[in-house]
Amino acid sequence: MNQAAEQGTLYVISAPSGAGKTSLVAAMLEQDAQLCVSVSHTTRPMRPGEHDGINYHFVSRDDFEAMIGRGDFLEHADVFGNYYGTSQVWVKQTLAGGKDVILEIDWQGAEQVRHLMPDCVSIFIVPPSPEALRKRLNGRGTDASEVVERRLNEAADECSHAVEFEYLVVNDDFDIALDDLLSIVRCHRLRMQAQQLRYSGLLTRLSERR
Ligand code: 5GP
Repeated sequence: MNQAAEQGTLYVISAPSGAGKTSLVAAMLEQDAQLCVSVSHTTRPMRPGEHDGINYHFVSRDDFEAMIGRGDFLEHADVFGNYYGTSQVWVKQTLAGGKDVILEIDWQGAEQVRHLMPDCVSIFIVPPSPEALRKRLNGRGTDASEVVERRLNEAADECSHAVEFEYLVVNDDFDIALDDLLSIVRCHRLRMQAQQLRYSGLLTRLSERR
């Protein structure tokens, strides 16, 4: 295989909380062995059921700021009062190894990545309606109404940036949304620019006159 064809593609996926992004990305990874997801660093406290190094690398604000100072992040942002950032070295090494990398990040990070790596593919996921979002954010209905209202306002801020992305996926039916996401990946792999590198020998042989 040609060296240039081995470089993976970077997929940037954003969504308001409650759109099902994390579950969809987990299902994409199960179905496509060439995909992997970057584990971000964050200063937010660990939630029950989360594991350090799996969901996030949980670090202190001091450590995060030292990492910013060293230029360790491809992108980083303050999202609702906590820092989040993507490891530059991990992403670049993984792409260089031929894997496709997914970044699950907010719109601010997506903007930075689009600027730094214009070849990335950006996808925004939305819920099918504001009512569905309210229902999903409300969870079991145990949260105080101010908490739900705050989450809805944060979701509205995130959604106001949807049009900046290349693709829009509506997560009404999970399986259809998953199929849409996998189709974007598949389509991207079939682009002439990529296929030409993979199949240069074949194209040459097929173009030879007998
Ligand atoms: P949560 O704390 O609920 O896991 O994530 C809150 C928000 O931070 C989500 O929109 C998520 O996509 C975003 N986020 C997670 N990791 C990163 C990252 O590395 N960079 C940026 N910019 N946002 C991130």
